[in-house]
Amino acid sequence: MRPEPGCFLPIKPDCTSSLGRKALFLDRDGVINVNHGYVHTPEETEWISPVFDLCRAAQTAGYVLVVVTNQAGIARGYYSEREFLDYTKWVHQQFELRGIRLEATYYCPHHAEAGVGQYRVKCNCRKPRPGMILQAAKDLCLDLGQSVLVGDMETDLAAAVAAQVGSHFLVDRAWPELIRLFEVADR
Ligand SMILES: [Mg+2]
Ligand SMILES: [Zn+2]
Repeated sequence: MRPEPGCFLPIKPDCTSSLGRKALFLDRDGVINVNHGYVHTPEETEWISPVFDLCRAAQTAGYVLVVVTNQAGIARGYYSEREFLDYTKWVHQQFELRGIRLEATYYCPHHAEAGVGQYRVKCNCRKPRPGMILQAAKDLCLDLGQSVLVGDMETDLAAAVAAQVGSHFLVDRAWPELIRLFEVADR
């Protein structure tokens, strides 16, 4: 059996009534928080604050917000899935406090070479592969062609291309420019 991505998905929508929604997919480390390496606690979390403005603009323009993150730290045994999920719940709460609803966080806990035990496996979810995005599309009734992905690495963009996500951007583009894309879409 193919290994599946994990997810933190507080409320699974009913796809008969919410078909074809557009999503903004966000990588986590390097987009939402500064990548200090295997961040998994509030203490280590340094927000990349313009991401909140980006999310607010996208939310206003009707995008569902979905995080897609490789978590080799789980594969390597640096922290457990339980710890990751507890931390992810906290991240979602921090967005909520700022008026932003993250719909779900999808994560790949695998690594084909460095993983230990059950996590040492070649999966379809570790970016640049598209498994997390495809699973999110299924669970959250998304129209990938209308969706956008923002990442900080070429592997993020490659996953978007493989999943046929409509457009994708690197955060090395100026944040105001990224945010404006959604403000225009809102008009
Ligand atoms: Mg990243
Ligand atoms: Zn995986």
